[in-house]
Amino acid sequence: MYTRYTWSPPARASVAISGSDERFPVRRIFCIGRNYAEHVKEMGGDPKNDPPIYFTKPADAVVASGSAVPYPPRSTNVHHEVELVVALKSGGSDIPVEQALGHVFGYAVGNDLTRRDLQNDSRAKGMPWDMSKGFDASAQIGALSPAERFGVPGEQAIWLKVNGEQRQRSRVSQMIWSVPEIISGLSGYVELQPGDLIYTGTPDGVGPLLRGDEVRCGIDGVDELEFRIV
Ligand code: MN
Repeated sequence: MYTRYTWSPPARASVAISGSDERFPVRRIFCIGRNYAEHVKEMGGDPKNDPPIYFTKPADAVVASGSAVPYPPRSTNVHHEVELVVALKSGGSDIPVEQALGHVFGYAVGNDLTRRDLQNDSRAKGMPWDMSKGFDASAQIGALSPAERFGVPGEQAIWLKVNGEQRQRSRVSQMIWSVPEIISGLSGYVELQPGDLIYTGTPDGVGPLLRGDEVRCGIDGVDELEFRIV
């Protein structure tokens, strides 16, 4: 008997859509580093001189709101990073800034879970970030709000609480590189595709998470995200 696969292909990673039974199929996850001036400073950088850093996570690193997230192995310093996530309904190469928002399906609040100890080692040695950023269950994400409901990224508040205590709070307008600039810039390196997610960077206030911590994050105009570290 002919079988096409040695084992069943994995289910496609997907994200909930607020107010809908449909789900958003995830193709790839791109992330931007150093995109809020106060966070660049707390990481020891210079916001005026550092260009954006692009990195990726596997598509199946997405974790829905309400989940238990395992504390990742090989790290003793795992940080939260609350971020606006952009979901694309279409793509292309060299997308002009003024056309970029037309490719957006919707927005969500996400958390770019980070092994800070491994990342600091990699930065010191000029080595890649893959194991500090792109590990299992490293991309928490809430339900997507369609772009027509969310509006245009701007003065929305973005915040994160750990066990009810506020750790991060800023506004989306404080990004160094705006959402249209990020989409346009990234599309110069890769051909963006429907299903791509972009984590757009975190404001200042990042810090360590411990087993048992309850994390809640939000952005005005999208459903909240909550998860627990186990
Ligand atoms: Mn980040």
